[in-house]
Amino acid sequence: MNIFQTDLREAIRSIPDYPKPGIMFRDITTLLGDARAFRRAVDELVQPWAGMKIDKVAGIEARGFILGGAVAHQVSAGFVPIRKKGKLPHKRVSVAYALEYGEDMIEMHDDALVEGERVVLVDDLIATGGTAEAAVKLLRQLGADVLAACFVIDLPDLGGADRLRKLDVPVRTLISFEGH
Ligand code: AMP
Repeated sequence: MNIFQTDLREAIRSIPDYPKPGIMFRDITTLLGDARAFRRAVDELVQPWAGMKIDKVAGIEARGFILGGAVAHQVSAGFVPIRKKGKLPHKRVSVAYALEYGEDMIEMHDDALVEGERVVLVDDLIATGGTAEAAVKLLRQLGADVLAACFVIDLPDLGGADRLRKLDVPVRTLISFEGH
């Protein structure tokens, strides 16, 4: 582990049994509040694609909005919000995905991007990859060229990054934590 990863790891607060028993919640509000860690995380997230033309950064509600907005500004790209069902006012496209119990839906405006645009997906954390997989499907429905999916935190035991790679999406994560 290098100094950068140690710094980032220390900037993240871990809260046991939230929102339910057995879950170790990785809270990035402490990272966002630390100017140096926030900047490093934003710079590092898209570092491999920094020299490429990126048309849009898509962020997943809600923490993906904060990181994705900053990344979009950094690479001079537009920002596209991917939201939970019922939050977007204009005409939408949607994709359903499975939760532990039942299913949920994420949505995007149908004019949020045009076919062939180069898009990077951003969220704070990838666990099972269910949310990010649905987001990739949503972006591809509108013809996006998904260059990469970038996350500050990986929970590798849950297999989400591998799930995305099977969809031919390059995955970048900055630090990983064992367990759930
Ligand atoms: P998944 O679809 O299982 O990959 O879950 C990813 C989404 O759930 C992300 O938007 C995360 O912010 C959130 N999430 C899942 N597990 C955790 C965790 N242990 N700590 C914080 N956020 C989590």
